[in-house]
Amino acid sequence: MPIAGSQIMKMLPGRKPCRECGFPTCFAFAMKLASGGTTVDKCPYLDEEAKAKLTDLLAPPIKLVTIGSGENKIQIGNEEVIYRHEKTYHHAPGIGLLISDKEADDKIDEKIRKIKELQFSWIGVTLKADLLALYFESGDRNRFLALVKKVYQSTDVPMILISEDMDALFSARDLCADRNPLLYPVTKENIEETIPKIKEKPSPIGVRGDNLESLASLTLRLKDAGIEDVVLAPGSKSLMEAVRDQTFIRRAAIKQGFRPLGYPTIAFPCFIAKDGLKEAMAGSAFINKFTSIIIFSDFDQYSLLPTLIQRLNIYTDPRFPMGVDEKYYEVLEPDEYSPVLVTSNWALTYFLVSSAVEATKIPGYVCVKDSEGLGVLTAWAAGKFDGESVGEFIKKSGIADRVKHRKLIIPGKVARIKGALEDALNLEWEIIVGPKEITALGKFLPDVAKNLRE
Ligand code: SF4
Repeated sequence: MPIAGSQIMKMLPGRKPCRECGFPTCFAFAMKLASGGTTVDKCPYLDEEAKAKLTDLLAPPIKLVTIGSGENKIQIGNEEVIYRHEKTYHHAPGIGLLISDKEADDKIDEKIRKIKELQFSWIGVTLKADLLALYFESGDRNRFLALVKKVYQSTDVPMILISEDMDALFSARDLCADRNPLLYPVTKENIEETIPKIKEKPSPIGVRGDNLESLASLTLRLKDAGIEDVVLAPGSKSLMEAVRDQTFIRRAAIKQGFRPLGYPTIAFPCFIAKDGLKEAMAGSAFINKFTSIIIFSDFDQYSLLPTLIQRLNIYTDPRFPMGVDEKYYEVLEPDEYSPVLVTSNWALTYFLVSSAVEATKIPGYVCVKDSEGLGVLTAWAAGKFDGESVGEFIKKSGIADRVKHRKLIIPGKVARIKGALEDALNLEWEIIVGPKEITALGKFLPDVAKNLRE
């Protein structure tokens, strides 16, 4: 639970304002600490005990855990609210694909291909699954290690290593330790044997309890041993139990500030559901119900895309509309006589305009002006898409160096900015008012493109 600035103030040394922390008074420093704007180590007069206590009190209620390394690493946890509308969620759940070492080699190859190739362009972002979960199921340790080696060599996606055999688990970890894999499961039976091996070569670990109480006692033991990169698996036997447990964990961590359950979680629709459709529906429930990693036994484009869109919808920040970067975008392969359109940077607007241009099969440039994620008409009404600012953007965008003509198509709904835009561009550009509805672009654009070439 968040700590108030006034409580922090009581723990500070209370010297005459020495200002060494960069703030005019201890109180100002305390307030900034409470809001997350500075760190405890900025005050040199805090003793170690007070520093440790404050660090603990200021830590987010759910620990941030990183799995993988490099560009593809994923981060989970660090959430501050139960419901997205209370503020926002920070880290979207990792979507993983299970590969058992019992599967045939061609099936394994197909799954590795899927994780690399199944990607979707969606309103300016790329949607894809994030992890491979490698499962020791065959009983043949060499086969499991060969699977880990193969995945390690052929992809750089983060890995989860699943094995009840601890020797196999740590041998597999040694093959890919530099990729920071998640090791699963640590249980009450193997925890004492696991702790020294994790301390020797730190990796995030998935802890499985028989119930929430045993889970909490396991994380306390790990914390005592200095191990906190932990992911919780409540060991739920059915979807109903799993949703109940995930909800309980989130509420305990955030509402009660119960640290032993303040970690991200993992769920396995692959083990709970019996067929593909039920598995996809279970995955959907886990996205809604706070789960940080969700593992599927398999997916194709038809089951993966809705899952990824659901995740995107829930994990966008509700305080800000989704926007794309301000710049000009090439659609198909435009040249110096291709049409130039300008629009606002709401992700959906950009997606609709660029898709409509693409549908005409006429290559073009879509210049996207930053309007703080607003649609064209709203942006105009808010003063973020007026003639003057659109003109400034066109001048600095560099589009004039890409085309030989000077004709710019504006959305029909903001025809009224035409005069101001011409002035802002020093009458060097002819402003063409486009259609009011995007659906009319198919008829409109071919004529403009033909005129430009003539
Ligand atoms: S450095 Fe510490 S003692 Fe000095 S003003 Fe800042 S908080 Fe107070």
